[in-house]
Amino acid sequence: MKFHIMTLFPDMVMNGLSESITGRAMEKGIIRIQPVNIRDFSDNKYRHVDDYTYGGGAGMLMQPEPVYRAYQSIVNGDEDISCKKKPRVLYMTPQGTRFSQKMAEELAKEEELVLLCGHYEGIDERVLEEIVTDYVSIGDFVLTGGELPAMMIIDAVSRLIPGVLGCDESALYESFYDGLLEYPQYTRPEVWHNRKVPDVLLSGHHKNIADWRYEMSLERTKERRPDLYETYVNSDSEVYKTYIKKQQKKFRKKKKNDADET
Ligand code: SAM
Repeated sequence: MKFHIMTLFPDMVMNGLSESITGRAMEKGIIRIQPVNIRDFSDNKYRHVDDYTYGGGAGMLMQPEPVYRAYQSIVNGDEDISCKKKPRVLYMTPQGTRFSQKMAEELAKEEELVLLCGHYEGIDERVLEEIVTDYVSIGDFVLTGGELPAMMIIDAVSRLIPGVLGCDESALYESFYDGLLEYPQYTRPEVWHNRKVPDVLLSGHHKNIADWRYEMSLERTKERRPDLYETYVNSDSEVYKTYIKKQQKKFRKKKKNDADET
């Protein structure tokens, strides 16, 4: 998969993504990250790309033409750089749709993506209207630039591409994959600061471990993300329905045992 990043700070993006898992994926050629420096498309000798906003107000705004030319270089550039078909262009903005795992899964199906990073007060509206297909926010707060959001999105999307994660690093059983947060996890030593790893995880009993993990996921989601929990329990999840049936059966059995004892 190829990512084109339109930015004023290509080094920031490339330095961050060249490390660790995304770095290895780039080395293996599974993902390609192509930075495009918007400043290279400035039409003045000082390489300025920003100007005052019409109507007044604090701060500078990125001008439309350098952004447009940078975009043109991606769609009409030489074969190595240019996109095969009209790409989706994601503008990083606090005014966009909130980024989510679901969106990452959807974006991972694309062959190429263009991520546009704003700076200063943002970018002139007219060029956004011409080239942007998706407005994406990483949360309800304002950052100084779109580079960190773009890096986050590239990271989240890349790890869903086959071959990017090693076999030890599965994207399948993680928070959000089925609408729940992940269960707690432990590694060696067995006892640390007087805290012991739950017995069930040492039992080697796969079914009991899976049941325990599911219950922990439910509990944790209910406690930390009641919004997700509500959606999950009201969904049509077969796993949840089976779990509830089992719980009811357990409850009836216990009630009967208690009655028999008295
Ligand atoms: N004036 C803009 C507004 O009020 O919506 C904010 C501009 S912000 C200071 C500069 C740039 O940072 C934006 O153009 C955008 O690319 C990026 N940015 C800031 N916060 C973001 C967020 N929560 N999600 C995605 N991008 C963000």
